[in-house]
Amino acid sequence: MESYKVQQHLYDVIVVGAGGAGLRATFGLAEKGLKAACITKVFPTRSHTVAAQGGIAAALGNMSEDNWRFHFYDTVKGGDWLGDQDAIEYMCKHAPEAVIELEHYGVPFSRTEDGRIYQRPFGGMTTHYGKGTAQRTCAAADRTGHAILHTLYQQALAHDATFFVEYFAIDLVFDAEGVCRGVLALDMNEGTMHFFRGHAVVLATGGYGRAYLSATSAHTCTGDGGGMVLRAGLALQDMEFVQFHPTGIYGAGCLITEGVRGEGGYLTNSEGERFMERYAPHAKDLASRDVVSRAMTVEINEGRGVGEHKDHIFLNLMHLGPEVIHERLPGIAESARIFAGVDVSKQPIPVLPTVHYNMGGIPTNYHGEVVQKRGDDVDAVVPGLFAIGEAACVSVHGGNRLGSNSLLDLVVFGRAVANRCAEIIKPATPHKDLPATALDKALERFDRLRNANGNTPTAAIRLNMQRTMQRYGAVFRTGETLGEGSQKISEVFKTFEDVKVSDRSLVWNTDLIETLELANLLEQAVATMHSAAQRPESRGAHAREDFPERDDEQWLKHTLVWVDREGSTRFDYRPVHLNTLTDEVASVPLAKRVY
Ligand SMILES: Cc1cc2nc3c(=O)[nH]c(=O)nc-3n(C[C@H](O)[C@H](O)[C@H](O)COP(=O)(O)OP(=O)(O)OC[C@H]3O[C@@H](n4cnc5c(N)ncnc54)[C@H](O)[C@@H]3O)c2cc1C
Repeated sequence: MESYKVQQHLYDVIVVGAGGAGLRATFGLAEKGLKAACITKVFPTRSHTVAAQGGIAAALGNMSEDNWRFHFYDTVKGGDWLGDQDAIEYMCKHAPEAVIELEHYGVPFSRTEDGRIYQRPFGGMTTHYGKGTAQRTCAAADRTGHAILHTLYQQALAHDATFFVEYFAIDLVFDAEGVCRGVLALDMNEGTMHFFRGHAVVLATGGYGRAYLSATSAHTCTGDGGGMVLRAGLALQDMEFVQFHPTGIYGAGCLITEGVRGEGGYLTNSEGERFMERYAPHAKDLASRDVVSRAMTVEINEGRGVGEHKDHIFLNLMHLGPEVIHERLPGIAESARIFAGVDVSKQPIPVLPTVHYNMGGIPTNYHGEVVQKRGDDVDAVVPGLFAIGEAACVSVHGGNRLGSNSLLDLVVFGRAVANRCAEIIKPATPHKDLPATALDKALERFDRLRNANGNTPTAAIRLNMQRTMQRYGAVFRTGETLGEGSQKISEVFKTFEDVKVSDRSLVWNTDLIETLELANLLEQAVATMHSAAQRPESRGAHAREDFPERDDEQWLKHTLVWVDREGSTRFDYRPVHLNTLTDEVASVPLAKRVY
């Protein structure tokens, strides 16, 4: 192995990722007097959070009667009872103050006539425990993520945190006691290696949507944090739960926000029928995402799709009128024009369910501390390691995330991590010694991939993986398709041994970076497909045609999955927290989920 010169950096806390979650944590840490470094592979304001459109949920009650307990109920039900109710309580209760805080930081929210934050209805969001429609989603037109991310970055700059931009985190470094002590990263611009040491590492690396062929997420959403965690021998949680957003633009995959339906847009099939009325008589087009995606898939499968191949659905917003479109949905009009060649004031948008969000991820408690099952302790904390945002599985979204709850999750738990670190880490605590060999494993793996000299280009393996996931890890699943899918994805995983990296340099070597990202994606693709195959029930986004009912007797539990170097999987389970944190709200008893 080549000997790499590694530069060391000492901080109290290292945050990996500068999306909404990473930025909120970073300046929160700085605010608490901790020395924080944030390392990110893309410039902060290019993180995928920038693309969030529809908004952020909080029971402010500006435009409909509302109460955080209604939000709590909706989130438990939306997640099909797989969410941890203590964490959901924490999130929903802190939502109003988190949004007001964002407003004070400078997020330019859209306004009501009387100057309050504008709120739109979103899928699955109700008042009075399913009886009324809540207008709960706070929006800055259809560019809410953009507004939030830029504001958070400004706040981060105003505080004393250090950014390492265009640094790629490769692997976590643990000591012999299993305490996370830092992360190894490559400065992509200089081609130099860096070891960031901290008393805590916070993974805020986002989702792994790019394991699929058609996804609304950015090409950078490659689940690098999840990959690092699996390689550290730790488990990921609930990886079978992948959200398909009902309205990705047909062909392009770009998102058309649920806010369009929130503003009154609706779906039609080839007969011009508003078919959602049949599937969800009350909520109709605003049923939760898994319900709408399944209904669309059934329509297409039964021959009522639109277009030449009858393989997609129409989203209509012609009736909303140019003012609403101009004021509330300007970005959508632009996306539809560019990616579908459609003038939304005259024509419907062709749409198809598209992979959008990973409910599964790195298991944590509501402080953001990574947890694992150790013997009888099902919530054992991994010292020194935190995870937040889409990379994490808190789990507030359970089996299905409600729209506009993710931006909320980022800021609430980004803040929670900063608070927790301030409780347990004293600023400027000296770093304990590490053996000279501490980095060897990570460097060896890096060097091996850098010099990989097989016969299969990275792009070919990636395409195989994406096709396999798209075909077998789909909206509807059966034991047979998942069995075949598991075998196929394991075969694709094996072909990675034969990967070829053509460029050996270290400066802006995109070939190498894409290979490191592919390694992360592959591990999580295997975790997803195999986890799906071993859950014989339908819950949230995991819809088994051969097991159409939810099975609370056997399967009201979180899946834990390990993936080893050979790509073999191992499973265990953690109980779902059905308890709440305080007596301010009662837990939601199990019930059938209908909209
Ligand atoms: C098109 C779209 C629209 C959406 N709209 C909404 C919405 O309206 N409301 C809502 O609530 N949710 C929405 N979501 C979901 C939500 O936006 C995301 O779940 C959320 O933004 C993820 O934020 P994050 O901070 O976890 O990660 P990201 O924003 O994805 O950021 C990840 C960060 O990690 C860094 N990183 C990753 N790997 C590495 C590495 N190896 N080394 C160094 N840095 C690394 C990246 O540079 C980046 O800074 C939407 C998602 C999409 C795709």
